[in-house]
Amino acid sequence: MSSINIKSVDWFGRAQNFFPGGVNSPVRAFKAVGGVPPVLAKGEGPYVHDIDGNRYLDFVGSWGPLIAGHAHPDVVEAAIKAIRSGSSFGAPTPAELELAELIKKAIPAMELLRFVSSGTEATMSALRLARGFTGREKIIKFAGCYHGHADLLLAQAGSGVATLGLPDSPGVPRAVTQDTIVLPFNDLTAVEEVFARQGREIAALIVEPIAGNMGMVMPQAGYLAGLRRLTEQAEVVLIFDEVMTGFRVARGSAQALFGITPDLTCLGKVIGGGFPCAAFGGRREIMQKLAPLGPVYQAGTLSGNPVAMAAGAATLRLLEQDAAYKKLNQHSQHLTEGLARLSKKYSLPLQVAQAGGMLGMFFAPRPVQNYDDARTSDTKRYARFFHEMLNRGFYFAPSQFEAAFVSLAHTSSQIDETLAAAGEVLALLASAAE
Ligand code: PLP
Repeated sequence: MSSINIKSVDWFGRAQNFFPGGVNSPVRAFKAVGGVPPVLAKGEGPYVHDIDGNRYLDFVGSWGPLIAGHAHPDVVEAAIKAIRSGSSFGAPTPAELELAELIKKAIPAMELLRFVSSGTEATMSALRLARGFTGREKIIKFAGCYHGHADLLLAQAGSGVATLGLPDSPGVPRAVTQDTIVLPFNDLTAVEEVFARQGREIAALIVEPIAGNMGMVMPQAGYLAGLRRLTEQAEVVLIFDEVMTGFRVARGSAQALFGITPDLTCLGKVIGGGFPCAAFGGRREIMQKLAPLGPVYQAGTLSGNPVAMAAGAATLRLLEQDAAYKKLNQHSQHLTEGLARLSKKYSLPLQVAQAGGMLGMFFAPRPVQNYDDARTSDTKRYARFFHEMLNRGFYFAPSQFEAAFVSLAHTSSQIDETLAAAGEVLALLASAAE
């Protein structure tokens, strides 16, 4: 660690006395890449600044929400205006309707929706609702997909085939995950087999339509359509967890990109413009089972918070212009194509993927289709790449198994600068490999 980060090192040392591992969410602690995280003091457009005075071009964007960049004037104005009128009421407000209209316009499958405060709440509530609606208990998720930290979702496949989920984390009772079936992503046959055996016991199938939490993995051609067909036949509720991909890969989200209509959709991140806000919604007949219309209980003191609603609406308005997604696509394509070119030049195996303002790279020998493939990545090489880029002023996610994000604030010349730095770093990695 260079001396220029002395304040961050000191701060992070003190933080150990307050927070487990010095952080309030685990990946922030840099365990996967080593070292001490820069402690961030300020965000400005595409940049973040740490307390030591270093500036980084940011490809994390608070893990996805900041599609407009940091402190976009429209978002700041909207939030300030809202807070001047009161920060929370726990009662209906006009702002809820404004954000809901913007969401429904882009994602018509969300016939009715409910706002919550985090992606975890959205997926957890959607699954409770699906169970309440179908009267069935089992759910299917895919290895390497992350849907937040609710107990029932902290389960992973052991052998990559249909198994009863085992608790992934101490503290999760076996009884809670025994109805969670974990299957490999991009493998329709695995789903078919489970449905043939126990389709009528399954309440819901939840999937990240473009996986972003094992690194970025695109669905194979026909995979999502296959999931739609199978769930429809078995009357299983199909849930697209678009907490990451929602308004990120396209205005209509991944479901518009692939032309698939799920029964329920979960959103988060972008729709709150950097404030705690998420949502779940979908078919009216399912959503009507939710209290107070129906018997499935779900509630939240801060749900539909007016400051988050206002910031979210300001963000979605920026995304209404067609040019927005053109720009996001151009920048992330420019970056992934540049990285692919450089990896060829230096004979380093690198797999890249891109959709809208989301991109991914794996230091893996073969194209990545699922979690097992993702785990063939050279995580040490990624750690070296990450630190060399950070030292040059480029802030990527501190883990091989995360996506990268570009914002409307990034410029083409900043992507060129990133590729110039990546060229130096990949040359270093290639020489280290010799
Ligand atoms: N679902 C997906 C696809 C996510 O990427 C995340 C968070 O990264 C979540 C759910 C959980 O969201 P939150 O961290 O807001 O609880």
